[in-house]
Amino acid sequence: MGLLFVLVVMVPCVFLALLAARAINREEAYIEKRLEGTLLAEVTHVATLVDAELKKILEELLASAPSGLGESSGDFFPEWEAASSLVSVPFLLSPENEILRPNYNQDLSDEELSFLNWNRAFLTGQVSIPVYKNIALVYKDEIINRLDKSYNEQIANQEAMDRQAISQEVMNQQAISQFEQDESIRKKVYQQAKEKGQAPLSRTVNPSAKVGLVSAESKKQESVFISEKLTFNEIAAQAEHGVIPRLIDDRLILLFWARDEEGNTVGCVIDEEELHERIISLLPNVYSPVRILTVLDEHGRPLVTPTPAPGEEERDWRRPFVAREISETLPRWEVAAYLTDPGIISSRASFMALIMWALIVILFVSIAGGGGLVLKTLQNEMNLARQKTTFVANVSHELKTPLTSIRMFAEMLREKRQPDKKKQRRYLDLMVSETERLTRLINNVLDFSQLEQDRKSYTLKVVDIVRLTENMLESQRVRFEHNGFEVHFSCDDRPLKVKADEDAIKQTLLNLLSNAEKYSEARKVIEIVVSQEENHALIDIKDRGKGIPPKHAGKIFKEFYRVDDSLTARVRGTGLGLSISLRIIRDHNGEILYFPRDEGGSVFQVKLPLAEE
Ligand code: ADP
Repeated sequence: MGLLFVLVVMVPCVFLALLAARAINREEAYIEKRLEGTLLAEVTHVATLVDAELKKILEELLASAPSGLGESSGDFFPEWEAASSLVSVPFLLSPENEILRPNYNQDLSDEELSFLNWNRAFLTGQVSIPVYKNIALVYKDEIINRLDKSYNEQIANQEAMDRQAISQEVMNQQAISQFEQDESIRKKVYQQAKEKGQAPLSRTVNPSAKVGLVSAESKKQESVFISEKLTFNEIAAQAEHGVIPRLIDDRLILLFWARDEEGNTVGCVIDEEELHERIISLLPNVYSPVRILTVLDEHGRPLVTPTPAPGEEERDWRRPFVAREISETLPRWEVAAYLTDPGIISSRASFMALIMWALIVILFVSIAGGGGLVLKTLQNEMNLARQKTTFVANVSHELKTPLTSIRMFAEMLREKRQPDKKKQRRYLDLMVSETERLTRLINNVLDFSQLEQDRKSYTLKVVDIVRLTENMLESQRVRFEHNGFEVHFSCDDRPLKVKADEDAIKQTLLNLLSNAEKYSEARKVIEIVVSQEENHALIDIKDRGKGIPPKHAGKIFKEFYRVDDSLTARVRGTGLGLSISLRIIRDHNGEILYFPRDEGGSVFQVKLPLAEE
């Protein structure tokens, strides 16, 4: 039964607990992953906003840029500068890419001078500069070819026209997202780029989230932008206008340019302050209880930062939790998110773990408790069922023994096999005694159900307990002696009156006497002593049997309780005798006590109050 409990309840319980414990241990990673997902979505959103703003800036500049200036003048420049806050150093190139404005013949401001120093060689086509492109778009075809078949089939099923129109944009998106999701593709593409000498841009930051896009622990993440060296002529051949980012001495300058119908190129440096302001205005709430979100410039410095709380040390802005590059127009700029409290993940994880453990313990206790209770009930039921079976077997056996004796003596008398009158008389006495034993047994069973239902009634009258005991004993003596017993009776030669139901008391004494007989082994001596103690009559029934082991002594008066209750027990019994006897005596305001006897054996003492004179 215990094994069953362990198998059915405890083993699955322990198994579940182990599973839960494993889940708890991973809680920190789960929380980090979830947080990373949320913050990455936010960062990506901001990056899209900034990218859109850059396109807007380009359009604004296109709209405001003067056109059809001819070679003659840059006279409109002051007006342009005044009209658009985005314009910093305007320039004009001839169709042959000679720099017409600013011109060394003019009075040059410091800004114009440094503009010429940095950009003259480039704008006049003498040097090439690195131009950045999203690696996923450069290797679009390779990435798309790796996509699962179903997607390719889907594309193939579309009308050819449709494909032309949609697939460009769709494929760009597909290539980018596939590149972001699949680490093996990423590795291969970077490898391919490296072989072709297209080095990825070096990033300003190194995000710390472990489970991010690149899972290798804290390995510096590669930029998604790779560069290709192009001259201004080559760039200008690909478009009519644009913005060229230039990293000079680690500083980023954005050059806007547009060609007019006559082949002149007008352009300007985009004002740094204005650009910063516009980007800052796009940022959502920088500071939330969970994260700090900001844009980092080419030096890895945040455009906006929350004022640090007193005592809070300056953060390492180059170690964000997650970060994302913005666009090829703003190389090395990133949108980055930092955890407000870096300990938040572990504290959340330990809080969750605490709750989970509490739940597991509650679950465990209730399952084990409930299981234990069910088991206990089951065990009680089984005990009861076993007791019933033993009881029926024992009752039948006990009834059979006296019946067999009675039948044997009756047959002997009928066959007249015993001519001796004295012996004939003894047989009859034995038969009477056996009948009494039978009656007592049946009475025990009957009384049990009566006492159970509180229906037992007594006919009380004053009796002399000495006589009653002696008569009872005499009626049994012949049987005892026949079975090899020595029976001694002693009393204080004067009557002891008690108010009692004669039959009930007789039944009690018979029960005790019968036990003394049943549980005696080699030493077959029974003593009965009737005495007075203050206002009580005492009847001691003493045997030299095996006695009762101390651990059972307290329980023998319980219903059905037997020291050896197995079906194979040498001495059979119903386990009812003592419990009924005690009930009867207690109903007479008396008591039955058990004492172990020196030199072996038992004493059962019946104590009854004497009747008042
Ligand atoms: P039973 O029908 O089994 O005798 P009882 O209620 O009369 O039932 O006794 C309960 C148990 O007490 C017995 O099974 C026996 O183990 C023990 N017992 C009773 N009387 C004696 C005795 N005189 N000597 C030893 N054991 C006894």
